[in-house]
Order: sequence, then structure tokens, then C-alpha cells
Amino acid sequence: MHAELIAIGDELTSGQRLDTNSRWMAAELGVLGIPVTFHTTVNDTIEAGLEAFRLAAGRAAIVVVTGGLGPTADDLTRDVLAAAAGVPLDLSEAALVAVESRFVRRGMPMPESNRRQALFPRGSRIIPNPDGTAPGIDVDIPRVGGQCRIFALPGVPSEMKTMWRATVEPALVAMLPERATIVQRRIKCFGAGESAIESMLPDLVRRGRDPLVGITAHEATITLRIAARGRDEADCLAKIAPTEATIRQCLGTIAYGVEDDEIEDAAVAAVAARGGTLASSEIGTAGRVAALLAEAGMRRLAAAEVYRGGDVLPAGSLDVRAAAAAIRRERVAACGLAVGPVRPAAEGRQAVEIAVADDAGVDVVEHVFGGGPDLARSRAAKTAINLVRLRMLGREGPV
Ligand code: ATP
Repeated sequence: MHAELIAIGDELTSGQRLDTNSRWMAAELGVLGIPVTFHTTVNDTIEAGLEAFRLAAGRAAIVVVTGGLGPTADDLTRDVLAAAAGVPLDLSEAALVAVESRFVRRGMPMPESNRRQALFPRGSRIIPNPDGTAPGIDVDIPRVGGQCRIFALPGVPSEMKTMWRATVEPALVAMLPERATIVQRRIKCFGAGESAIESMLPDLVRRGRDPLVGITAHEATITLRIAARGRDEADCLAKIAPTEATIRQCLGTIAYGVEDDEIEDAAVAAVAARGGTLASSEIGTAGRVAALLAEAGMRRLAAAEVYRGGDVLPAGSLDVRAAAAAIRRERVAACGLAVGPVRPAAEGRQAVEIAVADDAGVDVVEHVFGGGPDLARSRAAKTAINLVRLRMLGREGPV
């Protein structure tokens, strides 16, 4: 059983927006053990949509489509689906109530055009959309040798993901030949690049391994995803445990957290574990260090008490050693972090000085990054926050 993905929208075919939905869904399907054979991107026309649907439905048992479910005249996915299935569109009273209720809750009359969002190809199922007005469509199309099941979801990535988790993923798991349970665990890493991390792991990232280990990178944070298939959850967790232990042993402090943990969450937790507090001073990073640490505080109440705020300076030079000690004193914090300006280094690279001060003294390090200045600023902020974490992990007593 394999799947195809179709992304619909002029925005995508014209190059104004990148089709990140298909990238996300392909990774999700991979974890379920459903290979994806084609990604198709089509514009908002009946002809292109119909051609794409016919081809995909003729080749694959599963097709997932995103986009074109909105209320406007150029949102044609429902019409194309009905034409491809050879059935008419019927008004669903239940879907109409769901679409209308979102307007009622906001105290607004529903525009007539939104009635379109309650039209469904005859015989299809509604995929509820808790975060938006456009419900999704789940429809079967006959094909040679069986059926193709098409799931159509809205283009808005957050709505698509919520609906995937709640409806599409369980439906796909139910379709798998052996009714397997799939459990995933994500190990978050910082401090080495994707290929360096891969080379530190003994043959873990390869196709066909059980459990499967995948690696992805986003703004210098590397995620290792362990996906196990088993009889039940306990079976999957038992498969995951030795792989996770190997990863942790190979990567040491590079593996800073799990699931949705960000590096700033781990740093703030490390400071909190030592009973400490933290203040920062940065220049030329547009407040990225302060923003990340403040966000950690918004995610977890305990973290809010750890970060004492910081100074954000637009430009100039900074003696990071003195600044780390000064901000620590000024904000009465156990730990002071200072990040200097990102400046050009040799071979088109960027360099930044970072200092961490606590009662044991001040550490100053220089980091050199590849990539443009903007990327370097973001990496400098995360690297600085990671240095606080590493300093805390290296200490035994309270700060
Ligand atoms: P809505 O009811 O919100 O109009 P829709 O199903 O009609 O939902 P579109 O209008 O096609 O969705 O897209 C809505 C927005 O979602 C787009 O402006 C774009 O920002 C984003 N989007 C659409 N498709 C994709 C995609 N494949 N990858 C990433 N973002 C996308």
C-alpha cells in the first residue's frame, strides 16, 4: 500500500509559497510505513486538479490532498473530487451547522459563500476541522483492482496537522494490513550538525531498520525520530528504549531533550535544577536571546521565575566578559549571559563572542558559524543559551 500527495493552489505553482504540507505529511506517512511515490502540485483550475486526481487515484491506494477547500470561487477541490468520483455534490446539514457555528460564536453573520464548505461529494465522509471553517473530505474512488481513498484537508498548515492527528492518522492506521501500533519518540539535539550527528551514531539512520530512526534539522536543532511498530504501546516502547539508550550514550550532552523541548527550555531547566536564576545582555542579535528565554518562561511557569530579563542593544561593540558579570549583578541573578555582535570572520563565515558568568567565574568562548549573518544571529543566540546549559550540567552544587 503506497500513497500520493497533491498540493493545490496558484500560490504554490507560482512559487510564492513552498509546499511544506507535503513535506510534513510524507514524513508522517513514512513513520506509518506507508511509502509515498508521487508529490504533485497543481494550480487552482478544474482541469489540472482533475488530471492530478485521476492519475493519483489510478496509481495509489491513498491520496492526501491539501488546499482549495475555502469558500471562494477559486477553491475547487470539492468540485474536482466530485467530478473525479463521478458523483454529485450534496449539502450536508451537519457540516453546515459546523461551519455556521464558527460565525455564530464570533457574533457574525455567515457569508453566503461559506455554504459551499458544506457541500460534499455523495457518499463521502466529513473530516471535522476544530480550528477553522473548512471541513475536510474523506472519499473513496473506485480504481482498477480496488479503491483509492482520498483525504482532502485545508491548506492552512496548523488546521491540516490538527485534522491529520485527529482523523486521518487513525484512519490510516486502521487501513494498515497488520493492525500495528506505532509509537514515536523524538530526541532533540543541539551542538553538532546533522551529518556530524549521523556519523556519531553507529548505523542507526538507515532504511528498513526496526525501530526506524530519522534525522531532520531546523535552525541548528537536530531531531532524531525513533518510530517503532509493535503489537501494542508497551511492545513499541520496549523496542524504542535500547535505541534511545544508544543515541544518548553516543551523543552525551548533545541530546538535550525530547519531543517539543527547545534548547532554551533545557537551559532554563538546567539553571532551575541548580536553584539559580539567569539574566542576559546581547548586542546586534535583535533580542533573540531574550525572546527565546522569555518564550521558555511562557511555556513553563517554573521557567518564568528563572529568567530575570536582559539588556538588548541594537549595535556597537561589547566586552562580553564585563557585560556577563555586570548583568548578573544588575539583575541579581545567579548566572549572567552576554552575547557580542555577530561579525564577519575568515572565509565568509561569521564569529561571535559569548560569555557566561556565575559565582565560579566567567567563561568566554568564540564561536564561528557558516551561513549568512541572519542565520548566524539565530545560531549565536541558541549557542549562547546552550552554553548556559552546559555550564550548569558541569557544576555539582547550586549556582
Ligand atoms: P481556507 O479555508 O483557509 O481557505 P483552503 O483549504 O482553501 O483553506 P488554501 O486557501 O488553499 O486552503 O490555503 C490557505 C493557506 O494555507 C495559504 O494561503 C497558504 O498560506 C497555506 N497553504 C496552502 N497550501 C499549503 C502547502 N501545501 N504548504 C504550506 N502552506 C500551504
